[in-house]
Amino acid sequence: MLLGPPGAGKGTQGARLAQRVQLEHVSTGDLFRTAVKNGTPAGVRAESYLRSGQLVPDQVVLQVIEEYLASVGRRDICFDGFPRTYNQAATLDDLLAQFGLDVTAAIHISVPDQEALRRLLLRGRSDDTEETARYRLQVYRQDTAPLIDYYGAAGALAEVDGTGRTDEVAARVWRAVRQSLT
Ligand code: ADP
Repeated sequence: MLLGPPGAGKGTQGARLAQRVQLEHVSTGDLFRTAVKNGTPAGVRAESYLRSGQLVPDQVVLQVIEEYLASVGRRDICFDGFPRTYNQAATLDDLLAQFGLDVTAAIHISVPDQEALRRLLLRGRSDDTEETARYRLQVYRQDTAPLIDYYGAAGALAEVDGTGRTDEVAARVWRAVRQSLT
């Protein structure tokens, strides 16, 4: 899984990694944006959270994830943007344990706030206004950053510097994945 603030490059790196090792790359942000577009029940529940930059409630997230996992039927998955809360991480562990699986690597891609903000404003998605982007960074620090310690304690954490060119970061991510597999 890829951990890191909005603007860290999780989506870009997840796509590259998935190509390189044939993982199933799943971005919960993308799942929710599609659900909103299609007007599914989860999409209807998630819409206002996405727009304001708040986290979608765990219950909705976990339902979407469970449905997704049941539909793909694969175990080689790169999660991007999930888990984002302690509760999501603990539930994922339980879910994986049922299948005798665990998290191979939690790759923390770090970038300074200023750089994350700059990238988000460049990207210009509809929830990337300066105010919402700042708020999302704050939510990240409060709710998601504690997962770095959680996966550190589980011995699954790999730290990657997310600054620099895309292929430099991709090389660092790749190195971290290989190390986690040995
Ligand atoms: P970013 O990482 O730039 O914030 P994402 O596409 O990953 O972009 O997420 C966009 C929005 O989707 C988040 O602001 C949040 O509202 C919602 N979201 C995505 N994943 C989760 C999750 N695991 N838990 C709660 N909300 C989520």
